[in-house]
Parts: sequence; structure tokens; C-alpha cells
Amino acid sequence: MLLLVLIILLVILCLIEREFDRKVEQDIPEENCRKCGKNVATDLLICPHCSSLLREHCSCCGHSKLIAYRHCPWCGANGGEARDHYATS
Ligand SMILES: [Zn+2]
Ligand SMILES: [Zn+2]
Repeated sequence: MLLLVLIILLVILCLIEREFDRKVEQDIPEENCRKCGKNVATDLLICPHCSSLLREHCSCCGHSKLIAYRHCPWCGANGGEARDHYATS
């Protein structure tokens, strides 16, 4: 009887652990490296697989932005120059 309870507890623990692992995996957002196509965490500056640059710092506001983005998602700067419709409005 005690053995049965222990086995049930172990199974429940395993299930909780698996669920936790899945949640942890989901919590880390990933994107594909543009060069090698492998999954890399979104907050990385350089791909750990092929060492290509994934992000650069916006020359306008200093936030890191994806190389793939033309405009900085933080300040709207385009290639280092702030868009003037923000300044005129
Ligand atoms: Zn890569
Ligand atoms: Zn910016």
C-alpha cells in the first residue's frame, strides 16, 4: 500500500516537472537566426551558433533592435535618423 502511494507520488512529481519544463521553454521567446536559421533567444545580440550579429544598438535612442528591422521600434529612427513626422506633430 505504501509502495503504491509512493509510485503515485512519483508519477505526479514527474508530471509537474514536465509541465514546468514546458512552461520554462515557452517563457523564453525565440527567433530564427537570419544567417544559420537556428533558434536563438530573442535577447541575444550575437547568434551562438554562427556568431552573426542579430541586433544592433539604435544610434538615436540606444535601445537594441533587430538587424532585420528597418525602423527602431523604440523611437522610430530609420537607419540612425529620427523620422521628422514625430518632430512636427
Ligand atoms: Zn546563426
Ligand atoms: Zn531608437
